Amino acid sequence: MRKEPFILPALSLLAASCAPKVQQPNILYVFPDQFRNSAMAFWNDPAFEGAQRWQADPVVTPRLDAFAGESLVLSRAVSTCPLSSPYRGMFLTGMYPERNGVISNCMAERPDNTLREDAVCISDVLSATGYQCAYIGKLHAEVPMKNDPAHPGHFVSERRPEWDAYTPPERRHGFSWWYSYGTFDEHHNPHYWDTEGVRHDPHEFSVTHETGKAIEFLRKRDRRRPFFLCVAYNPPHSPYQHPGTDCLEEDYAHYRDLPLSRLYVRENADTTMAKAPSIRPYFSNVTSVDRHFGMILDELQRQGLDRNTIVVFTSDHGETMCSHGTADPKNSIWTESFNVPFLLRYPGRIAPRVDSLLLSSVDIMPTLLSLVGAKIPPSVEGKDLSDVFLGRSEVRPEAALYLRNVNGEADPDGLYRHFFGVARGIRTARYTMEVAIRRDGGLDSIQIYDDWLDPYQLHNIDYREVPELFASLAAQLSALLEESNDSWYRDGTWDKIWKQI
Ligand code: CA
Repeated sequence: MRKEPFILPALSLLAASCAPKVQQPNILYVFPDQFRNSAMAFWNDPAFEGAQRWQADPVVTPRLDAFAGESLVLSRAVSTCPLSSPYRGMFLTGMYPERNGVISNCMAERPDNTLREDAVCISDVLSATGYQCAYIGKLHAEVPMKNDPAHPGHFVSERRPEWDAYTPPERRHGFSWWYSYGTFDEHHNPHYWDTEGVRHDPHEFSVTHETGKAIEFLRKRDRRRPFFLCVAYNPPHSPYQHPGTDCLEEDYAHYRDLPLSRLYVRENADTTMAKAPSIRPYFSNVTSVDRHFGMILDELQRQGLDRNTIVVFTSDHGETMCSHGTADPKNSIWTESFNVPFLLRYPGRIAPRVDSLLLSSVDIMPTLLSLVGAKIPPSVEGKDLSDVFLGRSEVRPEAALYLRNVNGEADPDGLYRHFFGVARGIRTARYTMEVAIRRDGGLDSIQIYDDWLDPYQLHNIDYREVPELFASLAAQLSALLEESNDSWYRDGTWDKIWKQI
């Protein structure tokens, strides 16, 4: 064995400290709410042929189409628990809902359902690493409290039940630039609390306003430090009934005169539903998001930041929009709800391509931290998939977990302090399976879909007719429940179900 002189480590340390410092890459993370994966036109382009078995929606998304050509585009990324708040909890902490505290959507009647104050968030890590962290838009990861800065001792509005929330500085997890709110669904009448807790009511379409704020941050930021900027648009989330109040006329013009038969391309859509015309404002807001996302990209380019900035475009969950005849836009394992866009551009480091990687919500934080060379905290439960992103590894998850939780029993005050895990499921390279239970713990249903032969999930495969496939999917679900230390694993629910089958 060669003996190294003792002095070498000290010298190499010195050399490292004298080397010109390359600034860590910036991160721009843009995630509109309820933006389904099919709502990007490029999926129908020849360059993406075969990546999806379904048709792209007939949407106008020129900026995302161009961005996709420069990005790693994941075709089967999922929102593990496809609801606003649980997604945000998982993205921010890399932990599953039962550990980060956000099991369902945050509102006053679920008083314990909130982002744990001591949870280590991606922004805590990045700010400690020297990043300037900014959050613009919808947070919806905190229980509303009686902490209105303008009316101490009161909720931020008179609405009951209260959904909206103000996040005080001590609960901002390292975000030092703040322009956010809890949840509020009037797209032309948004409001925000700034870094100092001052409320703003700009009377401007929220996507336009937040884009202006994102560009303002990029211009006023601390140029000595890398930045982490989150832009959380609310559209294309509902409401989407009236073009005058719910979207912008110039984007609505693309869809106004098209018949529903042209707008609905998914074979599983029921266009006789009362909701059906909502597709026009929905697609309109998809186009608005596309156009405004492009404005932020333009600002990056103007400042020469595009090469050293990791840009992610994704969403918290999708939108069923009359598919499967369901009125519920989310919180289901249907592809329209569960499968989300995930495009990541990192010029010179990550090769543009399509990949069927099964990225789950808890994997985002460790993967991004690893890509910028930051330390992943031990509390993280997701996987660092950065080596797959970088093309250095083919070690990838074989299945992604799905969770659906609903309210447990209300207490005498009408508050929900417990949740009922009503369904668990998985998605693999080819299949989707969901197992749902009744309130008494008995088996309710098992659904299996072959996403390759049946991309619109029209034919539920009877598990009794495919014993080998079912055994394999069940084993994968069982392993994921154990690995994620899920309540179905801990309290024996899955074992009980398994014995019933
Ligand atoms: Ca949402």
